Amino acid sequence: MRCPHCGNIDDKVVESRTLANGEAIRRRRECENCGYRFTSYERTEEKQFMVIKKDGRREPFDRNKIERGIVRAVEKRPVSQMQIESMVNDIEDKTAILSKGSHEIGSKVIGDLILEQLGVIDKVAYIRFASVYRHFENLDEFVQEIHLLEKGTDITAH
Ligand SMILES: [Zn+2]
Repeated sequence: MRCPHCGNIDDKVVESRTLANGEAIRRRRECENCGYRFTSYERTEEKQFMVIKKDGRREPFDRNKIERGIVRAVEKRPVSQMQIESMVNDIEDKTAILSKGSHEIGSKVIGDLILEQLGVIDKVAYIRFASVYRHFENLDEFVQEIHLLEKGTDITAH
């Protein structure tokens, strides 16, 4: 497959995994020229997996978008590239399970899954993501969220 970074077509597969719902196989590939890693999917030619946005519009599920959101939240935090990748994989798998074969999932569900992952990995990243994602209406809400974190309460259960 063509490397999205340098255009070279020789790559090796570094990981191959069937998605949790069995509907697709995800392959992590590494370009043999520049070492860039990218993901390819093999799935039956059926429906594309869609995300239902807040206003009801649908857009194709985009793994990179999830990754970008996480990368932004963990900026300058002690979180490795491997941890980020494993978070994205987990979210993708859970998304597939939660959609129950309907080929679509609410963007809110994805947002909550991201929060769940960040809550385990890094509290600061969690707060960063939550503050953007939940659009805190006032400082009280924000402070309340921090208290919940400090108490170690199940932060995703609301
Ligand atoms: Zn390359």
